[in-house]
Amino acid sequence: MRYVKLGNTGLTVSEFGFGCIPIIRLVKDDSVKVLRYAFERGITFFDTANAYRDSEEKIGKAFDGVRDRIVLASKTLKRDGDGAMEQLDNSLRMMKTDYLDLYQLHQVAQEEDWQKVTGPGGALEAVMKAKAAGKVRHVGVTSHSLPMAIRMVKSSLFETVQFPFNLIEEEAKGELFSAAREMGLGFISMKPFGGGVIDNAEIAFKYLRQYPEAIPIPGFESCEQVDQILAIYSQANVVGEQDLEVMENYRNELGKIFCRRCEYCQPCSQGVIITPAMGYPIFVKRMSAPVATEFCRKAMESVPNCTECGDCMERCPYELKIPEIIKANYALYEAHLKELKG
Ligand code: SF4
Ligand code: SF4
Repeated sequence: MRYVKLGNTGLTVSEFGFGCIPIIRLVKDDSVKVLRYAFERGITFFDTANAYRDSEEKIGKAFDGVRDRIVLASKTLKRDGDGAMEQLDNSLRMMKTDYLDLYQLHQVAQEEDWQKVTGPGGALEAVMKAKAAGKVRHVGVTSHSLPMAIRMVKSSLFETVQFPFNLIEEEAKGELFSAAREMGLGFISMKPFGGGVIDNAEIAFKYLRQYPEAIPIPGFESCEQVDQILAIYSQANVVGEQDLEVMENYRNELGKIFCRRCEYCQPCSQGVIITPAMGYPIFVKRMSAPVATEFCRKAMESVPNCTECGDCMERCPYELKIPEIIKANYALYEAHLKELKG
């Protein structure tokens, strides 16, 4: 395992980290086993969020006694200072630690989010106070919106940025990468498997390893999966013509159905919460059906309001057939509810 600097934070992390969404699906003992195994095999960077259910509690149990040997990151979706501090204190308690190496404002995408987090009484002000008090060592931000991510990187307010980056979602490669490099921010690549749609780990990482400045955080739900990625990293990265062809096939196959969660399509005049409704099958894959039905409930229940006006499609840069996709996802959601009711 190679260890690299995370931007100018002064933090050193393993060249790939561990994104903790998939441990939601595991029972506590299995989560602890995978987390400990990853640590023992050299992974030192663990990224979670208040929104990832009991993942923080599982991390707390796994790393009792080795806190000083890992880099722990979490996030808050709260936009107000009080809410963010309540979540931070909860994260600290769950993870049995008195500081986080990195605390991120989670999914800041819309102008309204930005105004709230940076305004008086907003989350950023409170997180900076927590940093001064030693509860947080570094402050970062995550987003799925490219213009917002670029703006936040250039704002000089953050030390890291987390953004989707994989062989299908390549938007970060241009201005966002260069701005992060110029401003000295660490770049964390979320969704190395496109949220679960890229089912070839070798190809996914052949692509990602071409950009060593970006630290991917794959999720793991078994020790074998940890070994698989370690084995890929133990070899020199050679990307041949055939690999490029496989990557291109993924892009062609998924390009017209894959939602990037950029939120450009919103808002909907009928109150449909489009982005989580578009991503429902991916949430199921990553979180399990029982968790995803609950997690996406509000969004899924808004889908029947869709009048198929098409306004959102005009705003989607990827020309996705949004009404068609969300209706299909709604059918899946209903089937899951039915199954769960048994
Ligand atoms: S097509 Fe449906 S989801 Fe899209 S803007 Fe119109 S009502 Fe909203
Ligand atoms: S449907 Fe299109 S615009 Fe909306 S979040 Fe997905 S990719 Fe972005």
